[in-house]
Amino acid sequence: LTEFLRTAGLTVHYRTPGGIIRAVDGVSFEISQPGQALALIGESGCGKSSAGLALLRLLPGNTSEFSGSIRFEGCDLTTLNNEDFRRSYRWKKIAWVPQNTKSSLDPYFSIEAQFKELFEAHGIRNAAEKISRLLATVGLSKEKCGSIPDRLSGGEIQRACIALAFALEPALVILDEPTSALDPSLKGQIISLLISLKKELSTSYLFITHDIAQAAAVCDYFIVLYAGKIVEKGTREQILKTPLHPYTRKLLECISLSHQGEGVAYIPGEPPDLKGSNSGCSFAPRCDQSEAACLKGVPVLDETEEGHFVACRLARKI
Ligand code: ATP
Ligand code: MG
Repeated sequence: LTEFLRTAGLTVHYRTPGGIIRAVDGVSFEISQPGQALALIGESGCGKSSAGLALLRLLPGNTSEFSGSIRFEGCDLTTLNNEDFRRSYRWKKIAWVPQNTKSSLDPYFSIEAQFKELFEAHGIRNAAEKISRLLATVGLSKEKCGSIPDRLSGGEIQRACIALAFALEPALVILDEPTSALDPSLKGQIISLLISLKKELSTSYLFITHDIAQAAAVCDYFIVLYAGKIVEKGTREQILKTPLHPYTRKLLECISLSHQGEGVAYIPGEPPDLKGSNSGCSFAPRCDQSEAACLKGVPVLDETEEGHFVACRLARKI
């Protein structure tokens, strides 16, 4: 059986005046069946967008290393040249809703013109009919579609970008913080829209978020990323009911505290500098359970029960 998506040792480094930043550091994950949704969660700066951009081949110019393998529907995408990838995969099979949707749109062209350009670039006719169907699905008026992005609200921009991502009926949509710029009532609407699109079209999602509650509403499988590495992965139930990594537990505590009305809770301390070489567990300096041994040797992902993996030497003891 061909797996839908599997990355192995995905690595992204950036060159900066201050040194090399290891944004994604040997990340391996999979979506085994089309239609499944995988959440990529973690705090700001842990490498979520970089991992998404690597899948889309949209890494910035100062990328100094992009390695590992990305198998998608039986093909290793890293072996394709940029032109083949652009023509046959990006938007057509793997589309995305970028983290900063507004700046991803062309400010001088109407939303409709941007749809037309995408369809034309892929040789698709009957664009008008397709566009009106897409707009109806995401609940955007025809009038709005004829406007430039500046005339649209944040929620409308988000809907337009979701419609663009679904335009060519891709098998996988990468959603990078699809609600981060929206107010709470709109967040809920966008999440419901994503859930219904997924059901209707059997589209797979790689859902990037720092919001575990949203991930739980949309996704079947979870990956928790810390400082460019996966620290825990499993099914939604495994991660929510029996989180094993101290970092995952802290993330879950933060949402429950926030829900109890104690304001937005944060994990004390800061993520490590991705330029340094880490000799031990990168979470150890913020971990209230860490022991001296945690600072020696980077923990590897261990399978603790079927499908549930954790990279923590203490996880079995907790
Ligand atoms: P956020 O939740 O804030 O969007 P993220 O998890 O998506 O964060 P990334 O944007 O992938 O994180 O960034 C990972 C690390 O790489 C961060 O330390 C970030 O500052 C750094 N980084 C991202 N893009 C570049 C770049 N073009 N050049 C140098 N460093 C970068
Ligand atoms: Mg990001």
